[in-house]
Amino acid sequence: MSEARREKAEKLHHLLETEGDTVAENTRLFNRGRYEATADLADYEALKDEARAIKEDAIERLPELIEELRDSVEANGGNLYVADDAADANRYVREVVTDRGDSVVKSKSMTTEELELNEALEEAGVDVTETDLGEWVLQVADEAPSHLIGPALHKSSEGIADLFNEQFDLEEPLETPRELTKFARDQLLVDIEEADVGITGANFVTADSGTVALVTSEGNARKSALVPDTHVAITGIEKVIPAVEDLEPFLELIGKSATGQDVPSYYSLLTPPLTSPPVDFERPNEAVTDDPEGREFHLVLVDNGRSAMREDPDLKETLYCIRCGACANSCGNFQSVGGHAFGGETYTGGIATGWETGVEGLESAAEFNDLCTGCTRCVPACPVKIDIPWINTAVRDRVNHMDGEGEFDFLVEGLTPDDEPAGLDRAKRLFGNFETLAKWGSATAPLSNWIAGSAPARWAMERWIGVSSERDLPEFQRETLVDWFETRGSRVDAADAEREAVLYPDVYTNHVAVERGKAAVRALEALGVRVVVPRSAAVGSGRAPLSQGMVETARGQAERFRDALSSELDRGRDVVVVEPSDLAAIRREYEKLLPADDYERLSESSFEVMEYVFGMLENGADGNELRAGDQEPVDYHAHCQQRTLGLAAHTVAVLERLGYEVTTSDTECCGMAGSFGYKSEYYELSMDVGEPLREQFGDDGRRVLASGTSCVDQLEALLSRPATHPVELIAPDTSPR
Ligand code: SF4
Repeated sequence: MSEARREKAEKLHHLLETEGDTVAENTRLFNRGRYEATADLADYEALKDEARAIKEDAIERLPELIEELRDSVEANGGNLYVADDAADANRYVREVVTDRGDSVVKSKSMTTEELELNEALEEAGVDVTETDLGEWVLQVADEAPSHLIGPALHKSSEGIADLFNEQFDLEEPLETPRELTKFARDQLLVDIEEADVGITGANFVTADSGTVALVTSEGNARKSALVPDTHVAITGIEKVIPAVEDLEPFLELIGKSATGQDVPSYYSLLTPPLTSPPVDFERPNEAVTDDPEGREFHLVLVDNGRSAMREDPDLKETLYCIRCGACANSCGNFQSVGGHAFGGETYTGGIATGWETGVEGLESAAEFNDLCTGCTRCVPACPVKIDIPWINTAVRDRVNHMDGEGEFDFLVEGLTPDDEPAGLDRAKRLFGNFETLAKWGSATAPLSNWIAGSAPARWAMERWIGVSSERDLPEFQRETLVDWFETRGSRVDAADAEREAVLYPDVYTNHVAVERGKAAVRALEALGVRVVVPRSAAVGSGRAPLSQGMVETARGQAERFRDALSSELDRGRDVVVVEPSDLAAIRREYEKLLPADDYERLSESSFEVMEYVFGMLENGADGNELRAGDQEPVDYHAHCQQRTLGLAAHTVAVLERLGYEVTTSDTECCGMAGSFGYKSEYYELSMDVGEPLREQFGDDGRRVLASGTSCVDQLEALLSRPATHPVELIAPDTSPR
């Protein structure tokens, strides 16, 4: 393994050992809460659409809304300052604070983390106290946040007890969460009472009235805003929305998406400066007057790269983010290593790539961008429907172009048929060009398999390319699926056919999992479908280069795929796809890669193989020739992208209809994620992500089914027993294994 890969593997190993268990426990708890809370919503999707539309409109009209907000804030008696960058924002806040005293209490704000405001104030001699419990724990521990909404999510209560007992002079050691929380609250209330200035963030700010919306679990933001005479709210310009009534979908969604709470503990809608007088803690028994004199409010809107993001077609969507953290919670890799690996200088989780690229720079995003495997499980979790995987893909493409030419590039330039620049990471280039490799592998099999599997080759692959020697390599078949079909031909006459379909010979099914492809042909024919497997359709879908961020290469493959399939569509044939990740490329990413008409035609005509079987059975096809289950219990793991497309249920329905007793996996992503688990620096993490599958299916002795090639490989590695695609189980005249 190269030095850079080894360092990355060691960092991930350290976090798996030290923080992984606590992060996994807390993120999965949030996930379960999110599923339960959103299931109770009458129309979750419509609410998300409404929230998204408000954000799209707000970002489109942002300059105009900021001016409207300025008028509202000034009419209320406050001040609005738009800061160009972090230095500008820190200068303004420092002047406000030092004019009024030297102590600040602050509620949680990722924007102030981005600005490094605490450091700027402390350099000016100001005492800053974080009042959010998690942030305060990190301030005491001198650590960085690891999650957008749960900054200390990586710390267990035992770890926090050890920290407090070590850092504070206590009469009795603290143990329970209740004791820890009470101790923190007592300490923080003193700081809040004595503070000269209170600083908060803002979840939303409404242009029509200057209302600052704060959503918290602890009530500390409200105290920080109301108790000191002066309130400074700091937030990104993207948090401005048009009107108070536009808050409704966000307030409905944010708690459910973030922590899984139906209703967060505190909603505070403040329209500062307040008309209530400051509280005098020296004379708590005296009645407060109605004199609001002394109240002051400053709203600082931070640009810091956001205006440029607004003009950037790939990063613009990032500005719709409401920072709920659901994309992090739903991510398998994040659950294992947390934000100290899956994050940049400030932001963590899937959307962090967009934020870091926009506000910190591409180098920061490049540090962790590879940890997004494109599994897409964050997509349905996001309350504003941001295409987070695409942002990661687009940024990965930019990272690929970041470095200059490497010393060995001359060896591969011209030999690899991609459209990528010199300097591309060798592992990315290998996996992104898997189509070429597979053609060569089949043409020279079994020699290719023997050479690739030899000890010197495995050593060289690990050392020079970064392919983990822990993984079994795919075994290329000399006779491809297309070869087999050309010899065999179709077994259903056109005149008798219920429907006609192209079985797409994707790279893996055509060259490696040929038996799976044969089973798919037989299963479809058993339902009266006339199947063809044309050689002309044996082209890459673009999935392999997309996974490596090779966008131009993927676009070229998508165009070839379209050209190869269009004559089949003209004949009225459907496209049936075995690999869910290829179907996901057609139904999702082709929208970005092809003209709209081509995308719509292909996505509407393409189906996952078990989805197609389900459709045939639902429409009256006779399933008697399919292999019946006879109440056989089976374990089934759906592919992550198949779940996002809403297609996992079709496989379960077909299996149950045929008499199988199906137990479905609780785990959303197996951790293999195409090439990810093959990369030497990610092997251990990949296996850790799959660990819940081993725990669920490990010892039950049942037949194991999985819909994706990666999932099959990973399950076999985790369980040490064979796994197979469902279509191989149900197809007639074929061995199920
Ligand atoms: S991208 Fe979506 S899911 Fe992730 S933090 Fe932002 S709003 Fe939440």
